[in-house]
Amino acid sequence: MTNIANPANTIEMIKKYDFNFQKKFGQNFLIDTHVLDKICLASGLGENDLAIEIGPGIGALTQYLANTAKAVVAVEIDKNLLPILNETLANHKNISIINADFLKIDLENLIDECKKKFGEFENIRIVANLPYYITTPIIMNVLESHTHIDSITVMIQKEVADRMQALPGGKDYGALSLAVQYYSDPYVVAFVPPNCFIPRPKVGSSVIRLDIYKDKPVKAEDEKLMFQIIRAGFNQRRKTLVNSLTNFEGLNFSKEKIIHALSLLGKSEKIRGEALTLEEFAKLAGCLKESI
Ligand code: SAM
Repeated sequence: MTNIANPANTIEMIKKYDFNFQKKFGQNFLIDTHVLDKICLASGLGENDLAIEIGPGIGALTQYLANTAKAVVAVEIDKNLLPILNETLANHKNISIINADFLKIDLENLIDECKKKFGEFENIRIVANLPYYITTPIIMNVLESHTHIDSITVMIQKEVADRMQALPGGKDYGALSLAVQYYSDPYVVAFVPPNCFIPRPKVGSSVIRLDIYKDKPVKAEDEKLMFQIIRAGFNQRRKTLVNSLTNFEGLNFSKEKIIHALSLLGKSEKIRGEALTLEEFAKLAGCLKESI
């Protein structure tokens, strides 16, 4: 089928297969070809690349990816979509569809299987219109897996995209901003209104691109400790960092040690977590680790 992504073709396929949208799978299908063009272009996908798509739905974005990349592997949880995908993507020989929960697959293994089937790739890029109920676990799983992925370009809830690229001081800045920015350079590409989907989501959406660092600009000696400190630091935003970190579950630093570590960074004991940059959190974790 040429161009699944328009309202008439999407409705035709849904009726033909008597498909029922499943809210629990976050199914909002894209019906705007301009948005699909924009996602593809923003992803930087090239003819020697592998595109990994999470949740192809009825294949609207998959078609675009297959026309741009060397190969596409699309992981879809809802088996009711498989017969539809077989029809809509029948003309593409460079697509592999996997029926699985993306959160449970072995990403490294998925990429190896694609290499066996399609050969080597220049870049490996995740491109998807994500199910919003699991946006953060999907992105954090990929980033924390340390699998070789070059970039992630995804449609997500606007508020979540704003938090991912937020800088110190603002209300959107928090543990998610720091986690995403530790592993990647985020950049919001476009805002997408609810009328670009069937059914319409209740929230606005953004396309965000995360370029994953090969060489991280900020290095944490002990990543686990740094992220524990970050989580504690934003657990109660109105508290000072000293009060948030003292007696936080899993952290065993006395008030005096925390005040001393902050003073080594030239920071007042009244400072809140939201005022610290990623680099400062990494340094704070380093100072506190030395004091153990
Ligand atoms: N890519 C299609 C589009 O743009 O029209 C559909 C996007 S829709 C927002 C999200 C898709 O992810 C649905 O097809 C849904 O069934 C699928 N999905 C939901 N949870 C998933 C999971 N854990 N693993 C893989 N796919 C999932």
